[in-house]
Amino acid sequence: MTVVEAAEHKRLDVLIGGGGFAGLALAIALRRALGETFTVAVADPALARRPTDTRASAIVAAARRLFEAIGVWDAVAEEAQPILDMRITDSRLDDLVRPVFLSFEGDIEPGEPFAHMVENAPLIAALIEGANEAGVLLWPEAVKGFAVTPPAERGRENARAGLSDHIEVDLADQSRAAARLLVAADGAHSRIREQAGIATHGWNYRQSSIVTTVRHERDHGGCAVEHFLPGGPFAILPLKGRRSSIVWTEESKEAGRIIGLSDADFHSELERRFGLQLGDVEAVGPRRAYRLGLWIARSFVAERVALVGDAAHVIHPIAGQGLNMGLKDVAALAEVVVDAVRLGLDPGSAAVLDRYQRWRRFDTTAMGVATDGLNRLFSNRSDVLRLARDVGLGLVDRLPVFKRMFIREAAGLVGKVPKLLCGEAL
Ligand SMILES: Cc1cc2nc3c(=O)[nH]c(=O)nc-3n(C[C@H](O)[C@H](O)[C@H](O)COP(=O)(O)OP(=O)(O)OC[C@H]3O[C@@H](n4cnc5c(N)ncnc54)[C@H](O)[C@@H]3O)c2cc1C
Repeated sequence: MTVVEAAEHKRLDVLIGGGGFAGLALAIALRRALGETFTVAVADPALARRPTDTRASAIVAAARRLFEAIGVWDAVAEEAQPILDMRITDSRLDDLVRPVFLSFEGDIEPGEPFAHMVENAPLIAALIEGANEAGVLLWPEAVKGFAVTPPAERGRENARAGLSDHIEVDLADQSRAAARLLVAADGAHSRIREQAGIATHGWNYRQSSIVTTVRHERDHGGCAVEHFLPGGPFAILPLKGRRSSIVWTEESKEAGRIIGLSDADFHSELERRFGLQLGDVEAVGPRRAYRLGLWIARSFVAERVALVGDAAHVIHPIAGQGLNMGLKDVAALAEVVVDAVRLGLDPGSAAVLDRYQRWRRFDTTAMGVATDGLNRLFSNRSDVLRLARDVGLGLVDRLPVFKRMFIREAAGLVGKVPKLLCGEAL
């Protein structure tokens, strides 16, 4: 990995604050489409460290197509586990059997699975490698602050400096860069979003997800299982080999208690939910709990600033869609920027940013509301609601047209899909 020091007062086309999935994918997409003369930098202190996220993500078909289009999928393809089948159950914690109310077979096109499970650390490593190859400048520094040149001064100052309109960005190492567009890809607690004065609306759930990796005796056959339990969903997501990633949601107090258990007690809580269908099970990865919330930025843009990924929205992981939504932002923003630059327009202008916002904001709110509704419907102890939802699940299970619709929606292939998510080059 080549990480370079930020040059004093570097001039760029796009500066991306945050080198997670969203920031790196956007940087590669822009460079690949616009070539050498279009300068892109990613600033993130995490670039100085080896990726350590032990989670895995469900990467839906549209997101996989984007990774293929920007040339990073090959690096993780061998270790990516296709999801071939999905089963949903709905029961109380101590029920002896967990009947399957809804199942999906996982192809959206013949031979194209609706999603793959990919481990986060190798995927980030592949994106860093891809960014390097594409000539993205990688700066291991945090974005500290920024200022848009005030309108009154623009004419004279810009003429003197030979710059068009731009945003001045301060980095943690005291260096400064000027860019035509600053992208906030700095995650859920985005400092750039906050500094741009963009509020978020939403709420914290009183739930946390415990994440760990397990090894089991029998093959999972590519089957993903989600047990809806009163405390929250317990998802078993297949990884390569006889391993699965567990995303286990509980009320936060209970999650704290479970995380603190001894290995033996943790094992019995795990087994109680996991069941015996895959034989003996053993936690082999570290366990960590993530607090959950629904937060959507009131605007996805500000003057010369665009928000992508978790900086723009955080949703419940019940449907495994957070990162996939972030990649939809990436594909849409890359497309509007590339279209503008090819027409000789300013990529940070209000017209370009408005187009991005119109494309992404409604879709994001709809997904946020859907995941919130699902969580409210399933994470509760009401027997009446349980009966109603099980009738609903049973009905959907008998309607192949509905199931196909759901699976295409979950795969990110419904609505106005940006080119990269269709696997097309920009
Ligand atoms: C338990 C759990 C399970 C999940 N499972 C799935 C799943 O299966 N599928 C799915 O699609 N999504 C899933 N998600 C959601 C997904 O993990 C996130 O949506 C995704 O990681 C967000 O990526 P990002 O690049 O926007 O932000 P992040 O991954 O948070 O990256 C932000 C980056 O910004 C950097 N940064 C922070 N501040 C600054 C600064 N001031 N300057 C520069 N850099 C900065 C950080 O170092 C970090 O590298 C899950 C989430 C949780 C909690």
